[in-house]
Amino acid sequence: MAALNLGAMNRREVLQLGAACGIGVSLGDVFLPNQSITAASASEAAVHEKPPIQTRMFWTWDHSTEWALNRLGAHTHGSCNEYGRTTQSFIDDYTALFRWCGRNNVDAVVVWGLLRDGHGGLESAKRLCDVAAKENVRLLCGVGLNAYGGVYYEGDSPYNLERHLQAHPELYAVDAEGNSTNFSIDAIGTRVRLANTSTPGPRGFYHACPSRMENQEFAVESLKWLFRNLELGGVQIETGDTGVCQCPLCRDRRKHPADTFSWEDMALMYPLAAEAVRSVAPDAWIVCETYSHPEPYTGPKVAPGFGDGKAAWADESLTKFPRGAFVQWVADRYLRQADPDRVWTDKGQVSCDGLRHVMRAHVGTDWGWGAFRGEVALEWISKLVQQSVSSGFEGISLFGEVSPFHTGAELNYLALSDLGSANNPTSDQAVFEERIAGPLLGGHSHAIDFVRFAGLLDARFPNRRTEIPAAISSIYSRLPLLSPEVGRRWCWLANQLASFVYG
Ligand SMILES: [Zn+2]
Repeated sequence: MAALNLGAMNRREVLQLGAACGIGVSLGDVFLPNQSITAASASEAAVHEKPPIQTRMFWTWDHSTEWALNRLGAHTHGSCNEYGRTTQSFIDDYTALFRWCGRNNVDAVVVWGLLRDGHGGLESAKRLCDVAAKENVRLLCGVGLNAYGGVYYEGDSPYNLERHLQAHPELYAVDAEGNSTNFSIDAIGTRVRLANTSTPGPRGFYHACPSRMENQEFAVESLKWLFRNLELGGVQIETGDTGVCQCPLCRDRRKHPADTFSWEDMALMYPLAAEAVRSVAPDAWIVCETYSHPEPYTGPKVAPGFGDGKAAWADESLTKFPRGAFVQWVADRYLRQADPDRVWTDKGQVSCDGLRHVMRAHVGTDWGWGAFRGEVALEWISKLVQQSVSSGFEGISLFGEVSPFHTGAELNYLALSDLGSANNPTSDQAVFEERIAGPLLGGHSHAIDFVRFAGLLDARFPNRRTEIPAAISSIYSRLPLLSPEVGRRWCWLANQLASFVYG
């Protein structure tokens, strides 16, 4: 009888085998170096159906990713910031991140700001491609097609969108009055309009008109250059959600309203981008952002905004998305808000008509919706995965900028790895707490206490914070009974709680 030599296969090949055979392969259980099992024993091991979640991703900005500890310069919030760390920190941050992913069943990492002069440009990115490949993790370059810097996010490169637009000012996006849509934004969200030239200091937002053939060709050539020069696992592409061009060409092209982003711009640009990428790298993953939740939007805005439900005309655009691509949606407004007008119902299903769907949430970050960086977000992640699975999703994406040294992030990441897997197909938080969190925190009952104490910071229940001093005393009293590594995790929680009542 033929033997399946799992030891000779990489992690992705094993997963593909599992999916192809309808076998839920649990790497933690069965994938050991040089291990060989017979087809008969493989059948015996196939106690689960195909796992509900097939794809797990992290989403990151380079400037906020901080996996190499005790280094200067990381931001704790935001997008499009300047990069404040060293080139070595950039390499070390993502090396640690890819290694963790390779060992914990996370398939891909989106890096926004991958190519910048400030952290080594192409050479640093090449080094990270090598690390990611070694760990069997796909490095996905974040690429703005009409915004967000293009392929080469910041620097003196012909493939930087700002440089392209500076050289061709007639190709900038404009508002309905014909004025520039470029702006900068401060820490409290105040926008300052920018002229059609780049400015030093904090990064500005610059937009290209998608209707102009020259901009389409620029995006295509940039993507071909990217994949000819880097062994990437793929791209996450966006058309921009900070304003759309309202020039006569764009207005005449669109049949439907567009404010902060446009479904019709996506339908125009994503197929061009996918074709360019696949012409060089046929197996690259292509993740197409929608800025939307799949629940049908019912108003009151003329065009739904970021995180709102799906526009009535979105399905027409989705038929034009490149087949075989991932479509990425955003969950938060329907996940963390107790808003009766934003409930994820059976109408919020996605169709797998040649597309693969990924749901993303901003849990564990400072990106609003009551969250904070590194929070323990198990309740939300469980709900996210359960609702996503029941709505037709195969993939989940979380922010991955915080080091798992911080126990909140560690538990969130391990939940991403576990929920919806063959070991936890119902995405049961209690199962995760017993099987995964328990051994890390001193036992099952300790894990339950840990999650309960972390819940004292839940923004929905501000009165719970009066219980923090008692919780801290409880934590200190159990430390002598715990191993140093388990105790370290509890110390993280004690200090996290204390920081919210200090002073
Ligand atoms: Zn335009």
